[in-house]
Amino acid sequence: MLRNDTAPIETSLSHLLSSNDFGEFFGITQNVLDTVWGNLTGKEGNSVVYISMEIGADPDVYSPILKKLHDLQVTGESHDSPQDFLKKFFFGPGKIPNYSGGLGVLAGDTLKSFADCHLPVVAISLLYRHGYFSQIVDSQLGQLSQRVDWNPEDTPGLYLLQDPQRPGKPLHIEVPFLNEYDQETVAFAQVWLKAEVSETLDFFIPELLLDFFLPETPALIKNAAKQLYDSESSMVKALQRRMLGTGIIPVLQALGITSRTFHLNEQHGVVVAMQLIAEELYKTLRSSDLTCATNNQILAAANTVAERIVYTIHTPVTAGHDRFDKSLYAGISHKSCQRILDLLAKDDDNPQTYNFTNFAMQVNRSANSVSRLHRDVTHKQFPQHADKITAITNGVHHLTWISDARADVFDRFPELTGWRQDPGIFRSVCHLKNNQGFRSALQNAWRADTRILFDFVNNMLRRHRSQMIETWIDPPNYYSSLIDHITKLNPDIFTIGFARRFSTYKRADLIFYDIDMLSKIFVSNNWPINFFFAGKAHPADEPGKTVIKHILGYQEELHRKSKGLANLIFIPNYDMALAKMLVAGVHAWLNSPKRPLEASGTSGMKAAMNGVPNISIMDGWWVEGYHNGETGWKFGHEGPVDNANLSESREELLYKEDSTSFYNLLPSVLEDFYKDRAHSAFLEKGIMNLGKNVPIFNTHRLAAEYLKKYDLQLPAEIKERMQSFAQLYSSDS
Ligand SMILES: *Cc1c(COP(=O)(O)O)cnc(C)c1O
Repeated sequence: MLRNDTAPIETSLSHLLSSNDFGEFFGITQNVLDTVWGNLTGKEGNSVVYISMEIGADPDVYSPILKKLHDLQVTGESHDSPQDFLKKFFFGPGKIPNYSGGLGVLAGDTLKSFADCHLPVVAISLLYRHGYFSQIVDSQLGQLSQRVDWNPEDTPGLYLLQDPQRPGKPLHIEVPFLNEYDQETVAFAQVWLKAEVSETLDFFIPELLLDFFLPETPALIKNAAKQLYDSESSMVKALQRRMLGTGIIPVLQALGITSRTFHLNEQHGVVVAMQLIAEELYKTLRSSDLTCATNNQILAAANTVAERIVYTIHTPVTAGHDRFDKSLYAGISHKSCQRILDLLAKDDDNPQTYNFTNFAMQVNRSANSVSRLHRDVTHKQFPQHADKITAITNGVHHLTWISDARADVFDRFPELTGWRQDPGIFRSVCHLKNNQGFRSALQNAWRADTRILFDFVNNMLRRHRSQMIETWIDPPNYYSSLIDHITKLNPDIFTIGFARRFSTYKRADLIFYDIDMLSKIFVSNNWPINFFFAGKAHPADEPGKTVIKHILGYQEELHRKSKGLANLIFIPNYDMALAKMLVAGVHAWLNSPKRPLEASGTSGMKAAMNGVPNISIMDGWWVEGYHNGETGWKFGHEGPVDNANLSESREELLYKEDSTSFYNLLPSVLEDFYKDRAHSAFLEKGIMNLGKNVPIFNTHRLAAEYLKKYDLQLPAEIKERMQSFAQLYSSDS
């Protein structure tokens, strides 16, 4: 029976703390823990396992527990807080480098909304001891990557699960593997639990992070476990996927979790389906030798398993679809697994490879793409599965991405009462459009966030200048060499932001395609402008790294040709905290991918959450969020997706066509900005972005749409609340 205990949380610190079977826990009461665990371990299997290769949820960006401690005025210096877990909150790392970009941040945001909505979900991912790399940028060398060593032991909200049979010892799960000599072997993993806690501290989603980096684990696997998307070899990649997929059933069994439904956030964990199929076959054949199964028996087992799987596909870009050489896979999996893959992971274009996207497409009861446009493209890519592929457009967790200054404004206006619990409330913002008090409060909050961003960037530039003398790293910004110690970038100047992974299809360098033409716009009108850019390229993505070099290389030319009016700044080491500062602080958020390769995109939604307008190609979510120009601007190629060109080769990335379109648009944007001191046209678009897009592109609505695929029994109260979120939008229409 699912319980929904919404008794108010005691505000005194002693009630926030509690002990339980797992030791001292996160500041969550025993009652909450029992509710969550009860939901996941019930006989009916009325819960969902959410499987993701990465989860991005840095506590320095959002942590309800830290906020609570702050509200209670408990600080690191307080004498009455000796508990270790509290020390971690104050002095532990604020970042958990277990994500590389949008996929991970989406997972984190989704899980936070699941927690806020009290849904019975458990998440599974891997823990990477060396995280995802940290980025250093040198103006000559471009991106340099540095491994991140972090201590989960010191990280707030992370807890190593204990073995119930061996008190005081960590729980180890055993995961069957093959070694390099084709012999059966066992990999061991310990299990970290991170709690994604609801805003009101009365519920949480457990994230089980499998940590294979143990002395008992065979070296090959142990080494592959070190770093997220380690680029060493396709073997490492295949092993990482296998660690995730094969670890799921053992960890659920060890913890007594009974979930009926598995949600694959991308196909990375699809090996779990192979295990479930093997289990089904075992039931039919009553033999552990599954090689004697007939094709029909395998297909029947796959159909049974498909009933338990929901699948989200995140990209039309084929590099994002895992494919492995059959010969490579033969080295890490049993013959019976190969039988299953031979049937279900066929790749018609490359008969020598297994295609795991094809596998996931085949074995699910419901598949969804991440925007309407992406659905149409996915239908074309997988015509044989078109009838089960729907659209559930991505969202972001509004409580994570709305800046403190903006949140203060929303708190002050009675029209927006309840916005924290219900992002649908933002529909009322449209009625506040002409309210002078609201407009000026929002304007002031915007200015405050812009100042925070500029202080950060100016400090960074100053630091880089001193490092120029102290280290061998050439600062990544030409501007550093120009200025003396008192020159600073000016926050009153129009500033465009762009930050995301540097993949070639995202075309970070698009708008600098013709610097003469771009500079002329500024010079002929005497318009100053800043461009703030950030983002990491995957360490193995040489073309992506080249785009970073292009950006660095354009700085001097742009400055010179614009007679100093335009400054292009690159901010290294993009992460969630930087993302939040950028989307809240710039005057417009740019997205310039090649349509239709940006399946959704979420950073633009984060700008919308702060009432910042977007300038974007009509791709991904923006096709749905543009609203005829009320919320921002569009530019670039807009052809039908029927015969869409999905190529990523430079000649086919439409640089000339789409940059020209941008140069045609830009003067009107700048005119709007500089025509009055209040930037009223921008404020208007920003307010419409809040009113029209926050109610749609949030993860509470996303959770409600996923829920329709989950087939869960929920208490009436929760069901009703989720229905109200589902009514905010219908992605698939
Ligand atoms: C939101 C976010 C992304 C995803 O941005 P897109 O616009 O979807 O490419 C990537 N990295 C970080 C750190 C983010 O916060």
